[in-house]
Amino acid sequence: MNYSTILNTFITTQESDNVSIQAITDGHINTTLQVSILENGDTKHYILQKINHYIFKNPKAIMNSIEVVNQHLHQNGYPYERLETIPNLKGELLSIDENGNYWRMTKYIPNTYCVTKVENKEQAYEAAQTLSVFYSKILDLNPELIESSIPGFIDFEKRINDYKKALEAASDSRIQEAQSEIDFINLHLDLPNRFVENQKNGNFPLRVVHADPKISNVLFDNDSHKGRCVIDLDTLMPATILYDFGDMVRSYTNLREEDDPIADNIFSKEYFDAVKEGFLSHTSESLTDFEKQNLDYAGQVVVFIQAVRFLTDFLDNDQYYKINYPTHNLDRTKNQINLVKELLKLEPAL
Ligand code: ATP
Ligand code: MG
Repeated sequence: MNYSTILNTFITTQESDNVSIQAITDGHINTTLQVSILENGDTKHYILQKINHYIFKNPKAIMNSIEVVNQHLHQNGYPYERLETIPNLKGELLSIDENGNYWRMTKYIPNTYCVTKVENKEQAYEAAQTLSVFYSKILDLNPELIESSIPGFIDFEKRINDYKKALEAASDSRIQEAQSEIDFINLHLDLPNRFVENQKNGNFPLRVVHADPKISNVLFDNDSHKGRCVIDLDTLMPATILYDFGDMVRSYTNLREEDDPIADNIFSKEYFDAVKEGFLSHTSESLTDFEKQNLDYAGQVVVFIQAVRFLTDFLDNDQYYKINYPTHNLDRTKNQINLVKELLKLEPAL
């Protein structure tokens, strides 16, 4: 498609301007373009993104959440750069192209890089700390102001039910292939119960969370290597912050690739401690004792549920996750099970 049509809904470019548009392929969900405009010897950069409408059913609600959070961060003296939206020429936060796709423009954060896998404990700490500052400035934000971007995303009861249904409907051959993973999951099927219960009774209070706090969603400074900006705010939602912590554990402490089935040396306790320290660095005072007592448990549950999701998809003949070979989802399941086994050693589950 010709991107200049959509670009020109956001900014007016002159024919004499030297406009270059480059795809950034780090993300998996949206289409992300870096726009550079050379104007009178001065280059301006922007990020132009097409929102994945299949995953995010309500782009307007997402943009509203981002505005509410950005404003709140600003009011609360957030010390980092914010992912500010640049409205289109009509003053709207989204432009719609001829195919009905939603586009937005955001400020480009210069002189930064992002990583897809934690490289050392300092980096794990830095990412978790940067997110901790972000959380600390929105912990007092009324979660009712934020519409869930993906309803049911943190509904673990549903994940378990989907697994049970997939197991019932699965072919004998798939069940046979996955027998030891099915045995492990069935043996631990009660693990998330306490989590679900505490979500329901409010002991894990609703807060505004990022819900996708992986390392590639923190931009680091090219020179100081400090966290500069929390990006990818599409998943903002009201939920327990223990989900975010659990997901950080899931993505930061796994030393292997997510589809590597080898159990040896999968978990870094050093990274785990760094993530916890970073996460608590700015949130500790505001979180309840009960939330803090359940951090290790949250890691176990979030990783366990991810194992359940991969196994469900394997039993369901690979409908959801993209696979590169027939047992890809089974290898992903093994990887998460290996990780959860290490996490279960940290603290016996109640
Ligand atoms: P994900 O797979 O994490 O869901 P996504 O498709 O939602 O990704 P983003 O995470 O928003 O996309 O952006 C993809 C990449 O584009 C980032 O990893 C980062 O490299 C770059 N990027 C995004 N926004 C900015 C920005 N404002 N400034 C600089 N680089 C950015
Ligand atoms: Mg991202």
